[in-house]
Amino acid sequence: MPDTLQSWGRCAPAPKGGRKGRAWNAGHFAPASGETVLPYGNGRSYGDSCLNDAGWLLLPRPEPRILRFDAETGILSADAGLRLCDVTRAIAPHGWFLPVTPGTQFVTLGGALANDVHGKNHHRRGTFGRWVEGFELLRSDRGALACSREENSDLFAATIGGMGLTGIVTTVTLRLMRVPSLSIEERTLRFDRLSDYFELAEAADEGHEYAVAWIDSLARGRHFGRGHLICGDHAQHGDRTGLARPPRFSVPLTPPVSPLRGIGLRLFNEAYYRKARPGETRRTVPFDGFFYPLDRIGGWNRLYGPRGLHQHQSVVPLAGAPEIVAALMQTALDHGQGSFLTVLKRFGGMESPGLLSFPREGYTLTLDFPHLGDATLRLLDALDALVVRGGGAVNPYKDARMSPETFAASFPGWRGLEAMRDPAIVSDFWRRAALGPEGSDARRRSDRKGLVDAREVLPVPVNGQAEHRASLSER
Ligand SMILES: Cc1cc2nc3c(=O)[nH]c(=O)nc-3n(C[C@H](O)[C@H](O)[C@H](O)COP(=O)(O)OP(=O)(O)OC[C@H]3O[C@@H](n4cnc5c(N)ncnc54)[C@H](O)[C@@H]3O)c2cc1C
Repeated sequence: MPDTLQSWGRCAPAPKGGRKGRAWNAGHFAPASGETVLPYGNGRSYGDSCLNDAGWLLLPRPEPRILRFDAETGILSADAGLRLCDVTRAIAPHGWFLPVTPGTQFVTLGGALANDVHGKNHHRRGTFGRWVEGFELLRSDRGALACSREENSDLFAATIGGMGLTGIVTTVTLRLMRVPSLSIEERTLRFDRLSDYFELAEAADEGHEYAVAWIDSLARGRHFGRGHLICGDHAQHGDRTGLARPPRFSVPLTPPVSPLRGIGLRLFNEAYYRKARPGETRRTVPFDGFFYPLDRIGGWNRLYGPRGLHQHQSVVPLAGAPEIVAALMQTALDHGQGSFLTVLKRFGGMESPGLLSFPREGYTLTLDFPHLGDATLRLLDALDALVVRGGGAVNPYKDARMSPETFAASFPGWRGLEAMRDPAIVSDFWRRAALGPEGSDARRRSDRKGLVDAREVLPVPVNGQAEHRASLSER
């Protein structure tokens, strides 16, 4: 029987018999003694931060509702299980849009809050959590709590970006963004090399609500790092339905071997690069294609084959970013593993409200790799080492394999979240990257050194991670 409770990368092997999920009842959250649980949204996280294979996943209530929506002020309250696509459909006819949206609209409000997600307008709007006015949090030890910047503010900060570990978010109140329409006036700048991107990025952020770059990660020599810088602003006239088009097609089956490799990938990148004319192109485009291009292909993650995919997202400080980003891309080339989708974006200086939010000022690079076993794990370790040495961070909610050392170097304040964790809640990610006796020892060693020397610590297998990585390698 296929395991439906997956994460999007599909590379965390499911336990025998599949994963266990159950709904929770409003106002009631009392796991049996010793039992662990984890809230689950819609499984759009790539790695194992939305999984709890040693316990239960708590599923959102069926038929989530909008509880209140004030079309004058743009304040919306809804069940946390409501998906962003449903929110958009309800608010767009009144001239409102989500102030921050990730690259898929099939995530829930609870999931967006718990990962404090970011969008193509981070430089203007910061993260999703900045727009959260408040929420209700259900804890196994304290019952239902109202959380906001004024009330239970410590739990408010720990829950935003807290990866579901502080309790179940049952309802969310969100401040929306006024827009003239959802249609987007898109401006695409084709650039010939990575250094050109870094010259264009800041001005693109200053001039546009949205800006993000696609990079041809397979181009070498003088075309190394070529790509498109895609900018956008809401059009004065256009779509106000908020209705996304149905997918163009769906991938019905998982192919035995991923086609997103080798010559197929090279040809795709070449064609995609040439799709944009040299210089600048302007056009008005539907919102779904601009924000959610991958949602237009149903089940696209199957294209990565039976072993799934790893997404590696990092952020590195502004100073030194051109060199570190180039080194990350060169490392992927040197390991002979091209990334199918490579995205580069500048994060602005707005502070994220969560204790463990990932976004911080700098450049963020996202790479997607089919899982090829040990070779891919070695590459990902090498990427982590470059990021850590450059003073950056690796995104935990995209990850299925990072070491405790990389996590501690990326989030030195992680113990603050551990202190606020609901005693009945834990995830596979947290077990692997934060908890575990050997993991703590290794972390203490690296704390002393200030900065992790990833070459030294990465080959040391640690509790849980060793088993997990072994099972990833076998696949
Ligand atoms: C195609 C694609 C594009 C993406 N683009 C972006 C992007 O641009 N920016 C970005 O930031 N992310 C992006 N992501 C990642 C995705 O937005 C996040 O992982 C998101 O948080 C997933 O939400 P979900 O509802 O599917 O929750 P899940 O993945 O099921 O869970 C996410 C986390 O939220 C917790 N959680 C879920 N519901 C609740 C609740 N009610 N109470 C408490 N905790 C809860 C879970 O425990 C888990 O830790 C993308 C993912 C995909 C597949």
